[in-house]
Amino acid sequence: MWVTNAVSIGLLLRFYPRVSWHHFAVCAVGMVVPDLLAGTAYHQVLIMTSANVLTIWLGWLFLNRFASRSENSEWLSTLYCVPQWLLLCQPSLIIGSLLGAGGLFFMFDKPYLQSAIFWYLNESLNFIVFLPVILAIPKVIKSSEGDLLSIFLHILPSALLLFVFIFIKNEMYFLMASILIIPTIVWLALSGNLFLTTFGISMNGAFFFMWIVHSSHRHLHFSENIYVAIVRIVVTVLALCALTIAVAISERDKLYSKISELADNDDLTGILNRRAFMNAAEHTIASLNKDQRCAMILIDLDYFKKVNDELGHQKGDKVLIEFCRLVKLCLPAKQLFGRVGGEEFALLLSNESDKSHEALTDLIVTEIGKKPLIIDNEPLPLTISAGMAKWVEGQKYEILFKHADQALYQAKNNGRNQWQEYQHNETLQAPASLIPSVT
Ligand code: GH3
Ligand code: MG
Ligand code: MG
Repeated sequence: MWVTNAVSIGLLLRFYPRVSWHHFAVCAVGMVVPDLLAGTAYHQVLIMTSANVLTIWLGWLFLNRFASRSENSEWLSTLYCVPQWLLLCQPSLIIGSLLGAGGLFFMFDKPYLQSAIFWYLNESLNFIVFLPVILAIPKVIKSSEGDLLSIFLHILPSALLLFVFIFIKNEMYFLMASILIIPTIVWLALSGNLFLTTFGISMNGAFFFMWIVHSSHRHLHFSENIYVAIVRIVVTVLALCALTIAVAISERDKLYSKISELADNDDLTGILNRRAFMNAAEHTIASLNKDQRCAMILIDLDYFKKVNDELGHQKGDKVLIEFCRLVKLCLPAKQLFGRVGGEEFALLLSNESDKSHEALTDLIVTEIGKKPLIIDNEPLPLTISAGMAKWVEGQKYEILFKHADQALYQAKNNGRNQWQEYQHNETLQAPASLIPSVT
């Protein structure tokens, strides 16, 4: 299997945004030197290298110019990219195989048409099976525990099948087991992980192919060349199907995470919206045990109506965005922060933060009130009031929220630009106007 052309195109597309003739020269040198060292005649090296470099150049040219990429330049990311890919590879495959077969004809007197077909099938397999692996190498690797388990479950059958391919010695058993390559690769593709799928296809495909090539074909009534050609077609078609499934699933997954992001986040500030904050907070509260600390903080911007009235609603929006940015800077990781009303915000501090809840509340209130916000390069003084309620064992979200709201009312009553803690013997009732409205 001569995978150099496909691998070179993959590397150029994936890792070199600016390709120049130097890159093709390096490819040519990389092919010429080993051939010359192996004692191949000059004219043979020249002809075959020319055919291969032309294949690489044409493949790179068409794919780089016309193949679709996602917004963040990821390859193989749109639903129709697989048929498109197949089409765009054709100039390189056809011209490369016609030239390569010409070289073989002149140098070794090999039948032209047959060589061209075999060359074409071999390169098609490489373009569909090996090239996508390089393009699918992730730019950033991020895996949570759930992902790792799912990855393990999806690669397990492939690993078992590779084991079978390597260790089964009996030809008939091998052929029987090889049919399992279909569900194995489909299962891999269902993971929606393009790199896993392409890598799995290439490993299974390569071992399957190598085994077939090295095994005898005496049970069959046609030549080894035809046999190998059929296997190439089977592996290529299988890879195309798996690639299409993997692309469709990863497209669906991306769409799903985009939709849930839109559903959970507030349009203006990007933080959790009221519903998402409530769900996440309820979940956190339900998982607390009696030794854990947790506190709810409700924040309301002071005299915000005045900002809108005097500077306009648009400036008011910018104030809300800047306020959220500043609060996020003060917040330790994994603390919930949501917009629960127009200019009312809630925080759920859990005991994962190393600062005390009082210290954090104090920090946020004083940090915002200390110096003016900078909106459109102009200073804008803003203060906030906050109410804090500590969670006690068995308390539900609604009660904690109500207590924080009562403490906020107290802070407003006491003159604003401050925070108050809810006292459990407090009998204050917050007026309905202070209970956050649904956004
Ligand atoms: P207080 O100190 O008592 O809180 O006074 P306040 O003026 O802030 O009063 P209140 O909290 O009732 O004001 C809420 C104002 O927030 C009213 C509304 O115009 C404004 N507001 C709500 N949502 C938005 C928004 O998305 N953008 C802008 N610019 N203003 C908003
Ligand atoms: Mg307000
Ligand atoms: Mg308000």
